[in-house]
Amino acid sequence: MAHPSASASALLRHVRTGRARSRAELVALTGASRNTVSARVDQLIAANLLEEGGRGWSTGGRPPTLLRFNSRAGCVLAVDLGVTSVDVAVTDLSAQIIETIGHPIDIGEGPDVVLAEVDRLAQEALAAAGLTPADVCAVGVGVPGPVEFSTGRPFHPPIMPGWHDYPIPSAFGRYECQVYADNDVNVMALGEMGIAGSDEDVLVVKVGTGIGCGIIVDGRVYRGAQGSAGDIGHISVTPPGGQTVICRCGNENCLEAIAGGGALLRDARAAGVPVSTTRELVELAVRGDGSVLELVRNSGRTIGTVLASLVNFFNPHRIVMTGGVAQAGAPLLAGIREAVYGRSMPLAARALDITVSDAPDLSGRLGAALMAIEGFLDEDSVHQLARADEQVTGASPAGTRTGR
Ligand SMILES: [Zn+2]
Repeated sequence: MAHPSASASALLRHVRTGRARSRAELVALTGASRNTVSARVDQLIAANLLEEGGRGWSTGGRPPTLLRFNSRAGCVLAVDLGVTSVDVAVTDLSAQIIETIGHPIDIGEGPDVVLAEVDRLAQEALAAAGLTPADVCAVGVGVPGPVEFSTGRPFHPPIMPGWHDYPIPSAFGRYECQVYADNDVNVMALGEMGIAGSDEDVLVVKVGTGIGCGIIVDGRVYRGAQGSAGDIGHISVTPPGGQTVICRCGNENCLEAIAGGGALLRDARAAGVPVSTTRELVELAVRGDGSVLELVRNSGRTIGTVLASLVNFFNPHRIVMTGGVAQAGAPLLAGIREAVYGRSMPLAARALDITVSDAPDLSGRLGAALMAIEGFLDEDSVHQLARADEQVTGASPAGTRTGR
C-alpha cells in the first residue's frame, strides 16, 4: 500500500490548493517516491484533472514542469434551497460560478413541485453556460432542515412539510452523477471556508429564526454519527429574565427559544415594538433603535454563553456568524464577544476571531458547489477516474511503472 497522503486524490488536492506545483514539490510534501508520484501524476493528467504548463525556477539542473489543476475538466450544479427562494449555480471544479439563476419558490409545496422547478432552472443555467448535462460531474444541494447525509433524505424537517424521507438525489437522475444533499448550515459553513485547502477549525453559527452551527474540522464538515452534529439550537440555557419558555421541540429554555430570531420577534412585540418579521427587526437594530438594540445584545449574550462552552470544548480558530439575525452586526457581536471572551478559557480565547460573514448570500451556493466538488474528487472517485483512463489507454498499473 502507498503512503496514504500520496494517493492520487491527495496529490490532486495538494496541487488544487497550491501546496505543490511540480512533481518534485509533491515528492517533498508527501515523502513518497519519485516513481510513485510520477505514475499517479501521469494518471491524473490522462484523466484530464491535471495539466502541465510552463517551467518553474530551477534549483540546479533542468527546471521542473509546473502542474496545474484543470478546473474546467467538468462542472458542478450547486443548489441553495431556501424556504421562499432557490439559487441554482453552475460552477467549474474550483467553485468559480459560471452561471447562476435565482427564483422564488414555496418549500411547502413539497419536493415534487419544488425539485421539478429546480430541475428546470438547472437546465436553463447549464444552457446559458454553454454546457450540457453530460458535463455535470456532481450536484450539491443545501436544504433548510436536517438531512441524513448518506442518503440525501430530509429527516422530519420542521419547516419543509412533505419532505420527510424524500430521496432528493432521485430528482437529479438526468445527470448520471453523485448528488450530495446536506442541511443549509453545514453547506454555508463549507462556503465560508471558500476554496478547499483551508485546514482551519471553524464554527459557523447561523442565527435565523432558529439557531444552528456548522462544524469545520481541519477544513472539512464534521457531521457526527447520524449527521446531526452542530444542532446547538436546543442546548438548554438560563433565560436572562428567569422565565420558562417552551421550545418548539417540547423542551424548556432551548437556546433558540430564548435567543433565536423567532424569540427576538416575540420579545420585541411584547415590548411594544411593531414588527412582523425578523428582517424588520434587524433593520431597526441597524438604524439604532434603542429597545431593539438591547434585545439583540441580550440575544448575543445568551448565544455567547453557549459559544463559550463550545470554544472551551472545541478550541476553534474562528467563529463566523451568519443568517438573517447576524445581519444586525455590531450589537449581536458585542453581546457574543462579551460572553465568549468573559467565559472561555484564556488559551482557547487568546487568538479566537469572531466575525460576521462577508457574503451570507453567496455562501450557500459556494458551499453546495464545494460539497459536490469534494465528493467528486474524493479518494474513491479519483481512483476510479484514474483507473478508468488506464484501462482505456492501456497504461501499466500504478506502482509498477518506472519513473523517468
Ligand atoms: Zn428545543
